[in-house]
Amino acid sequence: FKCKFCDEEVQELTRYLQHTLAMHNAYICHQCGKSFTTKSSLLRHRPIHTGMRRFACSICKKTFYRKDKCKAHIKRHLGLTSDSTPAATNSESYPKVESLE
Ligand SMILES: [Zn+2]
Ligand SMILES: [Zn+2]
Ligand SMILES: [Zn+2]
Repeated sequence: FKCKFCDEEVQELTRYLQHTLAMHNAYICHQCGKSFTTKSSLLRHRPIHTGMRRFACSICKKTFYRKDKCKAHIKRHLGLTSDSTPAATNSESYPKVESLE
C-alpha cells in the first residue's frame, strides 16, 4: 500500500491505516481509499460499502442486509428448506420468508 500523503510504502493494510492515522491524522477507508479527517466521518462513510450489500448470494448475486436471510436464500437454491425439516416438496408450505424483507 502506497501512502497517498507521502512516499512511504507499507506492506500490510493495518499498518498502512496506522501510518496514515499517526503521520497524517487521516482515517482511510480501506475499501475505496478515501480519506477522512475524523473517525466519525469514516464511520459515516463505511455503510456505503458494508451496509448496502453486506451479504451476497454466490449463485445469483442477489445481495442481503442480513446474513441469515442470505443463507436462507442460498439454501433455497440448493433445494433445502430454511429449517431443519427435510421433507416438503411443496414450497407453498414454507414460512413467508419474503414478507420479512
Ligand atoms: Zn504517509
Ligand atoms: Zn470507502
Ligand atoms: Zn441467489
